[in-house]
Parts: sequence; structure tokens; C-alpha cells
Amino acid sequence: MGALIEKRPLERYVAPAKPSLVGLSRVALAEALGGIGVPERQRRMRVQQIWHWLYVRGVQDFDAMTTLSKEMRAQLDRHFTLARPEIVAEQISVDGTRKWLLRLPGETPDRPHDVECVYIPETDRGTLCISSQVGCTLNCSFCHTGTQRLVRNLTPGEIVGQVVLARDRLADWQRAAAPAGTEPEKRLVSNVVMMGMGEPLYNFEAVRDALAVVADGDGLSLSKRRITLSTSGVVPNIVRAGAEIGSMLAVSLHAVTDELRNELVPLNRKYPLRDLLDACRNYPGLSNARRITFEYVMLKGVNDSLADARALVRLIKGIPAKINLIPFNPWPGTKYECSDWEQIEKFSEIVFDAGYASPVRTPRGRDILAACGQLKSATEKLSARERLALRAMAMTD
Ligand code: SAH
Ligand code: SF4
Repeated sequence: MGALIEKRPLERYVAPAKPSLVGLSRVALAEALGGIGVPERQRRMRVQQIWHWLYVRGVQDFDAMTTLSKEMRAQLDRHFTLARPEIVAEQISVDGTRKWLLRLPGETPDRPHDVECVYIPETDRGTLCISSQVGCTLNCSFCHTGTQRLVRNLTPGEIVGQVVLARDRLADWQRAAAPAGTEPEKRLVSNVVMMGMGEPLYNFEAVRDALAVVADGDGLSLSKRRITLSTSGVVPNIVRAGAEIGSMLAVSLHAVTDELRNELVPLNRKYPLRDLLDACRNYPGLSNARRITFEYVMLKGVNDSLADARALVRLIKGIPAKINLIPFNPWPGTKYECSDWEQIEKFSEIVFDAGYASPVRTPRGRDILAACGQLKSATEKLSARERLALRAMAMTD
């Protein structure tokens, strides 16, 4: 015992001399304007105008903000930027899946950090998988990120910035001012899942504030029903998320006994299954149309028996839920293997017969990644970032 449950960040975020306005709350934006001498009586209106340019029109240059005076634009340009996280690589799959490798500043300029962001288009939606930390506070034994150090939390600007840059790359912004009364155009990025790198509920304030910007109806406008936050089970912050964020919740369950979950998700020693399921049961606004997603990674011979499947449906009884079975995505040095396909099917049948949709996701972007159980040697060559992306792909709804 005594093994580390939570890691501490190694670095702090160091703000650049000329900060970006992307990701600031309305209040913070008003304060920023106040800081450069915009009179108080003007701020509300200026915030509204800038918000529209930033989050409806997606402009990348103050000069394009034509509802502001020339002087005002120049003044903003002297003090701020509209920078998004820097994209260092973009890969596009034949099926339309895209992944972006992003570079975030380190505490010292010579040591930047990389995270990845993945876009998965489907017929009726487009899902963006975003990250919340560089590394992770926790250390789940089957997760490659868990074996790495926690470098730092992302800022709200870096979280919102992932949505903004996906819209940039997909040309997913409203082109012109929409005539009054017309339906808004359909957006390519229609859903956001916080299932990339990191544990979002250990970066609570930044995630909360960022998601408020993403959900803002005068801006990026993704409804909270289209935003899903995935957590390994930080119980007190699940309660807070229900009260302060109101997004959909996905819970990384992965085991049906405390004994096994303590091993797979060591945070379970702090917040055991009973407390976790209570927090799920009490999550506000649950109904058949608003269900919790339980994620369950399929580990051969570890958690994939048919008795486990039956125990799983008993465990979550009474909670409006979906179950997402995720084929384990192997990484070099892991002691786990992905369950056999037949076993996943049998497991999924039990879950399905109990009344839960249990889609096992076909991995997307096969040409830019590899899939579970396929091309083992190729899979082992995947970088941490690619594994992250593959994981995200197994997760789309
Ligand atoms: N930290 C959060 C969100 C990021 S992980 C969480 O744990 O929920 C997103 C999902 O991918 C989680 O369900 C996680 O358990 C799962 N996952 C992690 N490593 C995986 C792997 N190697 N193969 C398949 N799924 C994995
Ligand atoms: Fe962190 Fe989630 Fe990986 Fe666990 S599964 S180590 S919480 S990213």
C-alpha cells in the first residue's frame, strides 16, 4: 500500500507576454478590456461583439472584426492575440477522421509539450475528442498515459482552443452574418468528448470554465447534451460537475469488484464502487434521453468473463445508462491484451439482452492508425499520441 494515487503537476503554465483572448469567460474578457482602458460602459457591448467574431465567425485577426473601430482593433492587436494552440501535424484518414498534433508551451520555452485532438465525422454528427491535461494525475494500469508523469493542466484557452482550431481546419465557421430568423447552419463539429489525454475532473475549474464557453449559445453553441466528460471516478467532483457543468457524463468503470478496480483504476481505493455508483445515480437530470455512459475496456482474462458481464448489468441497475465496450488498445510494455473478438461479442450480448445498447465501436481512421488486435507489430510502434487517438476513436457514439 501507500502507492501513489494522485500525481502532482511538474510544471506551471506560463502565460505569454501577449495573451490570447481565446477561451476567456465573458467576465474575464471584460476585465481584459478594462485593463487596456476600454471604459466600463462600453465593455458589455464590446464583449458581445468580440465574442461573435471569435466564436461564431472564427476570425483569426483583429482586423476582420469590422464592427469595431479601426482604433479599437489596433488597440486590441497591441495587447492581445487570437492564437490557438499550435498545430504541428495534421493527418487525414480516407474515412475523414482527422488528428492534429498540438504543441503547447512548457514552463521553459525550449521544452514544449504535445497533446492530440481527434475529429471523427459520422453521418449524423461530428465528434471532437479533446484533452484536459498533459499527462494525467492518475495511474490506471492499462492506460499508457497513466504510466507517464503529470506535466501540467491545460488552461481554459487551450481547451477551448482545441474546438476553435478544429473549426478552423474544417472551415466550420459561419461565413456571413445570418439573416434574422434563419436557422443556424449545421456545424461539422457537433459533439465534444473529453476523452483525450488527462483526467478532466482533476482540472476542474479550467474544464468547467472552458465548457461554459463551448456551450455558450451566442458562440460555439454546442448544447451540453452534446458535450461528454469522461472521468475515472473522482466522486466529489462528479457531484460538482452535476451542479456546475451539467454536461453528459461518461464513467470509466472497467471492473465490477473493488478488488479488481483497485488494481485497474487505483483511484478506486479512494472512491470505491459503491460511492462511485451513488454519485452516478444522483447525477442531475438523468433520464432515458440523458444517460450515463459506462466505459468498460475489454482486457483478456482480466475483466471479460460472462460472469463479469452479468455482474456489470446488476451493478448499474436502475441508472439510466449506456455501456461502451472498448477494445483494449495495447502499448509497448503493457501486461494486458485485448479480449478476443468472440468474447467481446458474447459479453456484449449479455449486456444487450439486459436492455443496454452496447455498441462496440469500429475503430476509425484505420489508415492513419491501427486497430486493436490487428497489425500487432504496427500497433506497438504507435506513439503515445497515436494510441491516444485510437482510444478516442473506439469511443465515439
Ligand atoms: N481520464 C478520463 C478520460 C480519458 S481516457 C478517463 O479515464 O475516463 C478515455 C477512455 O479511454 C477511458 O475510459 C479510459 O479508461 C480508456 N482507455 C485508457 N487507456 C486505454 C487503452 N489502452 N485501451 C482502451 N481504452 C483505454
Ligand atoms: Fe488518466 Fe483516464 Fe488514463 Fe486513468 S484512464 S490514467 S484517468 S487518462
